[in-house]
Amino acid sequence: MAIDPPSLPVTDDLLVVPQEPATDALYVHVPFCTHKCPYCAFACTDEYEYSDFDRFHDGIDQELRLRTSHQGRRQLKTLYYGGGTPSALGARGLRRLTRSVEGRFDLSSLSEFTVELNPGQVDDVMAVELASLRVDRTSLGAQTFHQEHLKRLGRDHEIPDVERSLRALTAVGIEAVNIDLMYALPLQTTTEFVEDLKTALDLGAVHLSLYALEFEPSTPFGRAKANGKMIPTDDGIAADMFLRAREVCAEYGLHWYEVSNFARPGFESRHNQAYWENRPYVGIGPGAYGRIADIRYRNATETTPWHQALQQGRDPAVEKDLLTDEIDAIETLVAGLRTRAGVRWPEPPGVRNWEHREKTAKKLADEGLAVLTEQRFHLTVRGMLVLDSILLRFLPTSDDAT
Ligand code: SF4
Repeated sequence: MAIDPPSLPVTDDLLVVPQEPATDALYVHVPFCTHKCPYCAFACTDEYEYSDFDRFHDGIDQELRLRTSHQGRRQLKTLYYGGGTPSALGARGLRRLTRSVEGRFDLSSLSEFTVELNPGQVDDVMAVELASLRVDRTSLGAQTFHQEHLKRLGRDHEIPDVERSLRALTAVGIEAVNIDLMYALPLQTTTEFVEDLKTALDLGAVHLSLYALEFEPSTPFGRAKANGKMIPTDDGIAADMFLRAREVCAEYGLHWYEVSNFARPGFESRHNQAYWENRPYVGIGPGAYGRIADIRYRNATETTPWHQALQQGRDPAVEKDLLTDEIDAIETLVAGLRTRAGVRWPEPPGVRNWEHREKTAKKLADEGLAVLTEQRFHLTVRGMLVLDSILLRFLPTSDDAT
């Protein structure tokens, strides 16, 4: 039976602040979107006022102080603004946010600075501002280039916005642009998805993130599925679409390096590598996750309780899990299997309850779903297509938590 890692009581004496200089990645969660998409279960809201921006910035200043209070001005290697929609803050808001980060971190050795953008919010002013902040990688939520599907997804940008955004970004020297696309949409054909891929690549995207539509129960789409008003795409068709994507990306020189991600060589996400390698990173903002030393935490999702906690000098985390050596090893395995490179194998000796995972790995290799060598363990293409069910077989059990 899979269980959660041991939870820690959320008290002030367990403030999640770095005790060691182990992290060089910072994630900032911006929880605002101009419009809540009906399939989205992320920590974000479209019900906000401009005063919420002030509380957000104030809270960010306080959380940065809180989580960096035990150290000097540390060097950051990667910085990522995600959400939600960071571009909802506008050019001035992004500048204010970056000034706050610079107040606590040394950005002089930054190797990657990514900002997620709504294509409808990128204009020349925004692009110039991003360049002046030394943003060198952006991610555009295009999702599809077919009007009918875009409308059904409830997106609030227009198809030409994506090309306009790309032009504005490349004009200021931001060449590393990711485009997010979705597939397995209701009534979407494989041909339409291939057209989406080619459109994104012809526009110059050097990185693609591809996500199958999911019907999260808490969303309008999830409820429509439960009521029989929406029917998910058959898994076999979704898998075919993905395999086609792999071929198209290869034709354009993009390689598949993580279950959802394709990149031209040299344009792989460096920041996300911290997650896939299960390395510590500081996460701040409402709804942000982070991992500092051996504690994983999740912040309050809503801006108000997150901000209130910080104003009162309390940690805004509402969940904290202690990562024992066993759980850490398993999480490293589960995160690493998302990548084509997989994980180092075998795990260092001393990790209890490892035997049945070793057996599972060998069984997967026998079934052609994985490759197990003396040094590495990674999934095959067939294995990647059933990643979720494979990961379930490796999750922590009650034995690991004791
Ligand atoms: S823009 Fe993205 S984060 Fe915002 S509601 Fe839509 S899917 Fe969710």
